[in-house]
Amino acid sequence: MKKVLSVIVMLALIAGICFAGAQGEGGAKGGQAFATIGTGGVTGVYYPTGGAISKMVNAKSAEYNLRVTVESTGGSVYNVNAIMSGDLEFGIVQSDRQFQAYNGSADSDWEGKPQEKLRAVFSIHPESVTLLASDESGIKSINDLRGKVVNIGNPGSGQRGNAMDILEAAGIDPMADLKAEGLQASESAGMLQDGRIDAYFYTVGHPSGSFIEATSGSKKVRFVPIEGPAVDALVKANPYYAKSIIPVKANYPNAVNGADVPSFGVKATLCTSADVSDAIVYAIVKEVFDNLEDFKALHPAYAILKAEDMLTGLSAPLHPGAEKYFMEAGLR
Ligand code: GLU
Repeated sequence: MKKVLSVIVMLALIAGICFAGAQGEGGAKGGQAFATIGTGGVTGVYYPTGGAISKMVNAKSAEYNLRVTVESTGGSVYNVNAIMSGDLEFGIVQSDRQFQAYNGSADSDWEGKPQEKLRAVFSIHPESVTLLASDESGIKSINDLRGKVVNIGNPGSGQRGNAMDILEAAGIDPMADLKAEGLQASESAGMLQDGRIDAYFYTVGHPSGSFIEATSGSKKVRFVPIEGPAVDALVKANPYYAKSIIPVKANYPNAVNGADVPSFGVKATLCTSADVSDAIVYAIVKEVFDNLEDFKALHPAYAILKAEDMLTGLSAPLHPGAEKYFMEAGLR
């Protein structure tokens, strides 16, 4: 009898596990589904963005039968790879990384390995390639980085590729002409204030916690303009790059700069996999777009968002769950 009972318990457990698995794949119908959004470091904008999306969807968890959780990660490159391996259902990804991953672009992390199942959901805020230096380092342009200790970003981050691009375009070898560090974005502000690095790159929306922290310490810091022929060439050669202005004055009054600085940048985009169900993707898109004004109030970096613009900057195919919502809403 005992044996029979334990077999029954075991079968029930297995059935439970299968059912849970089916829920995840089956989407937001039937039992409750779960989805995790990969973001970035906690002092960036991806992390609060994941938080904003999950907060809105989870408030209607019963309606959608969906619970969304958020994970802090190493950034865009990590997120693409985790979506592709099935470890994450969603990830926030720079538009340039989305392009490279889907196309398997040369000189990218996915060279010759196009990520065919990568799907676009929508784009979010603009991100600028931002270079912050200590005043005492004397760095006032990209060329001044020669011989300095510079955090170009951890492997897995989006900024690492952008830093390499601009350095190479400026004729600086990131490995030979400076001391390149590969630190997590969340460590950068503290390391700069401690004098352990001279400058750091961060491709991020503004304001970001990282620069608020870095401009609030005792060491004076400066946003370094990124402009000139190197940027012109990059923007011309790559469809995903555009010139940008970093709003220093409004966001970081303690920086040495008296004015905003020019740079270039990309867009933050929400990505998923073709294997994630239409119902889950539809629920997330619907919640954000039906309540866009509420979403925009959750972070100042979203102030300029318009629904139509959130369909641009996408290079992977749209996920059908997103497509369905955009058709219904007359956005496509
Ligand atoms: N753009 C950065 C990356 O892809 C992350 C920025 C953020 O966390 O807001 O790694």
